Amino acid sequence: MTSSFPALPERIKDLGELASDLWWSWHFRARSLFRRMDYPLWRATAHNPVSMLRQIAPERLHAVARDRAFLALYDDAIRDLRAARASRETWWALTHGEAAAKTIAYFSAEFALHQSLPIYAGGLGVLAGDFCKEASDLGMPFVGVGFMYPQGYFHQRVSAEGWQEETYEHLDWDDAPVRPAVTPAGERCLVEVPLGTSTVKALVWQVKVGKVSLLLLDTGLEENAPWDRELSARLYGGNQETRIQQEIVLGLGGVRALRAMGIEPTVWHLNEGHAAFVTLQRIWDHLEQGSTFDAALEQVRATTVFTTHTPVPAGHDAFPFQLVETHLAGAWGSSLGAFRDRLMALGSYDNGGGTQFNMTALALRTAAGINAVSQPHGEVTRRMWTSIWPGTPAEKLPIKAITNGVHASTWVAAPLGKLFDDSFGTEWRDRLDEPEFWDRVLDIPDEALWRVRLSMKAELFRSIQDRARKRWTHDKVSAAQVVAAGTLLDQSALTIGFARRFAGYKRPDLIFHDAARLASILSAARRPVQIVFAGKAHPADDQGKHHLQQVYRRAADPAFGGRIAFVDDYDLHLAQYLVHGCDVWLNHPRKPMEASGTSGMKAAINGIPHLSIGDGWWAEGFNGANGWLIQGKAHGTDQEAVDAADAEALYALLEEQVIPTFYDRDAHDVPRAWLRVVKEAIRSTMPAYTTRRMMKQYAEELYLPAIMSTMRVGLGD
Ligand SMILES: *Cc1c(COP(=O)(O)O)cnc(C)c1O
Repeated sequence: MTSSFPALPERIKDLGELASDLWWSWHFRARSLFRRMDYPLWRATAHNPVSMLRQIAPERLHAVARDRAFLALYDDAIRDLRAARASRETWWALTHGEAAAKTIAYFSAEFALHQSLPIYAGGLGVLAGDFCKEASDLGMPFVGVGFMYPQGYFHQRVSAEGWQEETYEHLDWDDAPVRPAVTPAGERCLVEVPLGTSTVKALVWQVKVGKVSLLLLDTGLEENAPWDRELSARLYGGNQETRIQQEIVLGLGGVRALRAMGIEPTVWHLNEGHAAFVTLQRIWDHLEQGSTFDAALEQVRATTVFTTHTPVPAGHDAFPFQLVETHLAGAWGSSLGAFRDRLMALGSYDNGGGTQFNMTALALRTAAGINAVSQPHGEVTRRMWTSIWPGTPAEKLPIKAITNGVHASTWVAAPLGKLFDDSFGTEWRDRLDEPEFWDRVLDIPDEALWRVRLSMKAELFRSIQDRARKRWTHDKVSAAQVVAAGTLLDQSALTIGFARRFAGYKRPDLIFHDAARLASILSAARRPVQIVFAGKAHPADDQGKHHLQQVYRRAADPAFGGRIAFVDDYDLHLAQYLVHGCDVWLNHPRKPMEASGTSGMKAAINGIPHLSIGDGWWAEGFNGANGWLIQGKAHGTDQEAVDAADAEALYALLEEQVIPTFYDRDAHDVPRAWLRVVKEAIRSTMPAYTTRRMMKQYAEELYLPAIMSTMRVGLGD
C-alpha cells in the first residue's frame, strides 16, 4: 500500500501524494511529469508511478529535484491536483445545487481505472472506471464499492499451438494505489458479513480517484476460514457457489462498509445484477428500524438505480433457490427471516431452464430507475424482461436507454490532446458534450492531423515490437510466434484493429470466411492491409478459445504474409496503444448481441473510423460519413447464411471504399479524403459518446428523480 515510498527530496515531496491518487492518470501534466522522471523505469513498470517511486535510484531523484524544467512541471501538476480537489464550481454544484450534498453509491464487481490496479476483466469494468473519473470531473459526490482481488483477472499467454494459457499473479499491494480505509473513529474499516451459518470478515481498502473514493472489500484475512479467504482472490473465478458468496459479500458487505465509513448514500446504483443483494441488505435495515416489508421495499425501490449490460441470457446470474437459501442462512435468523418467501419471489424468474433466483430479476423488481446501455439494447431488454411486468406491453416497460460513453481525458492520445490544445485551447475538456464546439475539428489542417495520426501509429508499432522482443528473449518462443506477435507489420500499411473478448457472438474469425479473398486483400502489392487482433477468452469458454486459436493460426500462417498479428494479454495498457494507433476499428458481432461496445468509441475519438455491423452504439452512431456500416443482405435465423452475407459485405466495403480512400494520396502523400472521415469520426463521436454526455444523462434521468423522491416524502435514506 502506498505509504512506503523511500524518502523523497523536500522540493518534490508531494510526488507520493500525486502517485497515490489516480487523478494523475487522466491529467496530461501529471503523466508527463512521471514519464520524465525516469523514462526506462516508467516503461518497465507499465506506467505505474507508485511502483516507479519505490524503485527509482536515489541519484535520479536528486537529479530531477534540481532539474528546472522538471520542477516547473511538478509545480503545475501539484497545483492542478490541489485545485481539482478544492474546486466547488463544478457542474453538479452549479446545476443541481439542491442535490449537491447527496451521495451516490455505485456498486460494481469490477473497476478498470488503470493497469496498475488489475481488478477488472473487460468492458463492464472499463465503464465503471470511466464512470468514477467522470463523476470526479463533474463534482458529483460519488463513492464506488467493489472488490480488491489480490490475483485479479488472469494474464494471457498463447502457446505455439494457439491455445490460450492463463496465469494468475499475486498483486504486490505495495505497488498498487490503495490504502487502508479508515473509519471516522480512526480505525481500520472491517465489516462482518453473514455467509451460510458462519460469518466472513472483509477488510476495506480505499482508492482515490480525484474527488471520488472507491471502497474495495477484501476477504483474504487470517481470521477467515481458508475457503473464505479465497473468495475475493479472483475476479469471476470458481463455480456458482463461489459466485453467490462473492455477490453476498459485495451486496451485504458493501452496504455495511459504507455504514462503517459513516457514508449515507441517497442513491444506490447497481452496475449489473452482480450487486443486487445490496437491495436485500437495505430492506433488512429498514425492517430493523421498524418499517413494514412493503414500506421497506418501496423506500429501497425509490432510491435504487440499476443498469443492465447484456442481451446474452447466460450473462445474467441465476442460482438454484436452494443455493440462495443456504448461503443466506445467517440472514434468515433476523427480522428478514419472516419475509423469506417474498424475498425469494423478488428474484424468481424462468430463463427457459426452469424457475431460478435471478439476480437481474431481483434488481429489476427492486429498482425504480432502470436503464440499458444503447438504444437497440433498450429495445432488446424491454422485450427480454416483459414477464417481470405482467400485463405491460414491452414498449411501456420502465427501462430507459442511456448509451455508454468513454472518458475522453483517459482515452484521447497525448499527441492528439496536444493538437486539440493548440487548435482550440485547453477549454475543449470543459466542452466535451457541445456538438457545435466540435465542428471546429473540421478546421484543423490536414497535414497537422495526419502527422499526429502517424506518430500515434508509430507508438503502436513500437509497443508491439517491444512485446514480441520480450517474448523472444525472455520466454524463448519460436520464430513463428514472433511473427504471429506482429514483428513483420508495416508501419505504412492500412492497419485494421480488432480487440475484444473472444466470445462466439462477436464472431472473431468472420473476416476469414473466404480466406483466399482475404489473403489477396492483405497482400495487394501497392495497397497492403494488415490486421491486429487482441483479446482474451473467458477461462471456462472453450468455444471462445477455439475462435482464438483459429485467429492465431492465421497469424502464424505464411499464406497471410505476416500481415496478421495476435498481440497477447489484452488489458487497459494494450488497449490504449490499439485505440490510438490503428487506422480502422473493426467490429462484427451477431446482431443484436452487442449491448453497446465502447472500444469503437475510444478509437473514434482518436480519429480511427469505425467499420462495424449496425449493433450496439454503432446502430445510432453511424451517420454516413464517420466510418462504415457493414450491412449483409441476409437476415433471420440461418446463422451460416448471415455470416456469409456479412463477410461478403465486409470484403466489399474494404475493397471498394476503405482501402481506396486510405491510399488516395495527394502530391505530399496526404490522404485528404481519408482525413475527412477521420475528422467526421472525431466531430460526431466526441460530444455524443463520451462519459460527459452519458453522466449528465444518468444524473438527470436517474439520480435526480431518486433524490427528489426522498425530498418529497421526506424519506431521507
Ligand atoms: C474498452 C475495453 C473493453 C470493451 O470493449 P468492447 O468494444 O465493449 O468490447 C474491453 N477490454 C478493454 C481492456 C478495454 O479497454
